[in-house]
Amino acid sequence: MTFYKILDFKYKGRSFTAFRNNLGFQTFLEYEVVDNNRKYHYIDEMTYQRLYDMFLKKKPSFYEDGVNKKRKFNFIPKVISATGTALLLASLTACGVLSGNVSNANADELQLWPNQMFDDNEVIITDDYEVYEIAKKVNLLTVDGLNLYWSDESNITFDDVRNTLDSNPDVDEFLADYIHNFIDKLEMRCPNINLTCLNHNVQILKSKPVGDFEMMQVCGSSTATACFVAKDGTIYYNEDRLDDENFEYIMNHEIGHMLLNGYREINGYATERHFTTGANTGFMIEEGFDTLFIEDVVGVSLEDVAYRLPANYVRIIKDSIGYTFDDYVDGYHIDFENRIKEFLDDPNYNVDNLPYLMEYQKYNIRGNNDIEIEDSEFYELYEVVAGVFFKANIEYCDSKESIIELYEGLIDDILNDVYTKEGKYTFDFKGLREGMRRALKANGIDESLWPSDDDLTMIAIVSVPGEKQNIISR
Ligand SMILES: [Zn+2]
Repeated sequence: MTFYKILDFKYKGRSFTAFRNNLGFQTFLEYEVVDNNRKYHYIDEMTYQRLYDMFLKKKPSFYEDGVNKKRKFNFIPKVISATGTALLLASLTACGVLSGNVSNANADELQLWPNQMFDDNEVIITDDYEVYEIAKKVNLLTVDGLNLYWSDESNITFDDVRNTLDSNPDVDEFLADYIHNFIDKLEMRCPNINLTCLNHNVQILKSKPVGDFEMMQVCGSSTATACFVAKDGTIYYNEDRLDDENFEYIMNHEIGHMLLNGYREINGYATERHFTTGANTGFMIEEGFDTLFIEDVVGVSLEDVAYRLPANYVRIIKDSIGYTFDDYVDGYHIDFENRIKEFLDDPNYNVDNLPYLMEYQKYNIRGNNDIEIEDSEFYELYEVVAGVFFKANIEYCDSKESIIELYEGLIDDILNDVYTKEGKYTFDFKGLREGMRRALKANGIDESLWPSDDDLTMIAIVSVPGEKQNIISR
């Protein structure tokens, strides 16, 4: 099975490479450099579990039942958002512990052999849905997949959703007001958006006001404001946090997830609607979209948003390639990536690593200090962002000054309201300049107009809210 390199990182001073396969499963190898050659080693299950928990924490995890070796799923919902998904845990385990040979080469692509993997007949993957027989689970990737499995709920109108809400006795007035407001704004701004998933969620929804203590049990964090658990059809909101400045924002954020995260049991299968695939791949793109959705459609904003950086990337790409909120609610992350590929029309861009790089970078800026990732590891992400942005704005690239202005504006858009949780973070924009030049070349802009590195900002430093961002040209 082929695994592709995502990036290198350090964990407690040790060097690792993260890999992914085509199903979105990730694994890690440790490496050392001997005589300028990289030598890879397998990692033990404990280290794998630590890295997995770190990068994919707040997502479902698993444990083995030591007595009868049956797998059980220990569900931990996300803190700010909860899709309520039990994912493909059998294969996650399998990818964690590898056997067989490992190449010593400094390869971007490695042949690895997990101890167990799905047989072909256990997995069906189409453009609209994925069926995992071993887990009795169906991932509904698009609105077409949704309509296929949930056909009784298609053609839902805004008034249908309002009626569904009004006739649900398990939603308290407090939450119902939020949802009504959301529906009204949605109708004004996105009158043709698909409402199948939202209506289903509103139909089964229960509101559960809880306090800090219960929030800890449900969402794994006592300071969480709210979380939506699709599988239980429940929005938990924290009554101890009603006065928090982020309360309204996060309530709407969670309601936003109800548009395309849903769960229904049908004929013994757990059918789940997602924007993500595989092991929650695409999660950060979804959070970016949901963040923009709340700001643009519902009109609620907040100063320091956890998903600001992914949202900034998503906004630049979305506006450049003409992807809409309707497309987002209808699709899934690979559909978004395919639209980027079509728009770029150049196979030399690596779009497939985009969701992973967004996730790791977000983590790198706002996560745990045990992990260190050089910002140059995100080169491919910058290249794609610059590629779509300059192609979309190519008509304005008629002088060196205007190209410089576009480039600097792009950096402003990427860094807009981006903060670290603590300390400073340095962005290295080499990939952004290369992506710009590739786009200028592909679109026939004369080389005499291209700015040199000396004309352009090369690095930027961001820090905690309140401290000024530093943008350094050199
Ligand atoms: Zn979320």
